[in-house]
Amino acid sequence: MSLRIYNTLTRTKEEFKPLDPKNVRMYVCGPTVYDFAHIGNARPAIVFDVLFRLLRHFYGPEHVTYVRNITDVDDKINARALRDYPGVPLNEAIRKVTETTYAQYQTDVAALGCLPPTQQPRATEHIRGMTEMISTLIKRGHAYEANGEVLFDVGSMPDYGRLSGRKLEDQQAGARIAVEAHKKNPADFVLWKLSSPEEPGWDSPWGRGRPGWHIECSVMSKAHLGEVFDIHGGGLDLIFPHHENEIAQSRCAHGTQVMANYWMHNGFLQVEGQKMSKSLGNFYTIQQLMSHREFGSQMWHGKVLRLAMLMTHYRQPIDWTVDRLVTARQLLHDWVVSATGYGNKGNVPADLLEALDDDLNTADVLTLLHSLYRDAKSRSNAAACENLAAALQFLGLWTGETAMEIMGHGVELRTVSREQIVRLVEDRLLARHNKDWKESDRIRDELAALGVVIKDNKDGTTTWEMKS
Ligand code: AMP
Ligand code: ZN
Repeated sequence: MSLRIYNTLTRTKEEFKPLDPKNVRMYVCGPTVYDFAHIGNARPAIVFDVLFRLLRHFYGPEHVTYVRNITDVDDKINARALRDYPGVPLNEAIRKVTETTYAQYQTDVAALGCLPPTQQPRATEHIRGMTEMISTLIKRGHAYEANGEVLFDVGSMPDYGRLSGRKLEDQQAGARIAVEAHKKNPADFVLWKLSSPEEPGWDSPWGRGRPGWHIECSVMSKAHLGEVFDIHGGGLDLIFPHHENEIAQSRCAHGTQVMANYWMHNGFLQVEGQKMSKSLGNFYTIQQLMSHREFGSQMWHGKVLRLAMLMTHYRQPIDWTVDRLVTARQLLHDWVVSATGYGNKGNVPADLLEALDDDLNTADVLTLLHSLYRDAKSRSNAAACENLAAALQFLGLWTGETAMEIMGHGVELRTVSREQIVRLVEDRLLARHNKDWKESDRIRDELAALGVVIKDNKDGTTTWEMKS
């Protein structure tokens, strides 16, 4: 395998060399569970799932550990609990919010074709580890207590800011107005803060309180992957301050040169040319896209959303449009028609793996899928159909759905093109010619699902018409 990945830490594409090929380790920052995941949140889930699949393919499934955390302590969660469950004790209300959001997230990403990560630790399960790491940071002179908080002292780390390329002096200049009196440096960030009696809190050497956001990832990655691991991922917006601060905490607590060797960041998604926001009315959850007719007045299959996402290289911005989804849906439908009945036999083509090896070049992968589809020539080339099926399964784009399911429930029957129908009718004739009755029946059913009635005439011809 010659995987090369773009490393944000060095700003270059580098050859991937795992610390231990018998245990390749990746950490990705997961969701804060207070609301439905939106389609932007789906991007890192899908992108790093493709990488997970690629790593498993080369190193063996049992040799790859993928950790994606669940952030279930956060002030946004507390606010939501108070709003949605008035009168319910806060701890209970918080549990309801996090449990339902967590369950929804699992359902959503599964529908998008993402494998479950090896571990999905929750922040609340690791509070003890957090207070221990904070104590270590204080002992080593990297953190201090002030004004009811424990803060990380960025001035104690000579190369703080390396990942984002921000120099401390620049930040100081820029933040002059916002200097908070109790901080030694305006960039110092919270590791622990005290809670009021109504707020959720845990006992600690500094009093009853709750952790800051960044410390949880340092602790959960250490617990599951060790002090230094291979890949750390997330969206572009996390580079600063979140990932910068994770690095500061982990390196200073463990006395290591790096936290992870490769840092990968997906680009952002915008909707119809604009930043997604509730006030603009262009904010879509994964659920809204899949189960409501809110985007382009249609419902979209999860695998169509996945393909639409992978049509653009992960580091580029995506403009999420109805046109993009229509294109993705037609492509996936056609590919699935060719692949149906050919699953679990073929091989993932080597050139497809090579494209992925090049920093997950999924745009090239789609070109290759389409040429396999053309080779399949309407199901007459079995080897190509088998390889297409294998490729779609490998990429998580197909788990046996029918072409009709891919088209989505909301689809108008008439949107099926004449060309597609003719092709299916010809496929069926070919199957009959080969005395492949099973296949010919399957195609008849598929046509019926499309609203097409087939008639085999006495004179040996076959005609078809749309059900009215
Ligand atoms: P959050 O729950 O906001 O912390 O986000 C979870 C993940 O989704 C992070 O990796 C974010 O970088 C990513 N993310 C959030 N919004 C977008 C977006 N519009 N496009 C791409 N990724 C996003
Ligand atoms: Zn994180």
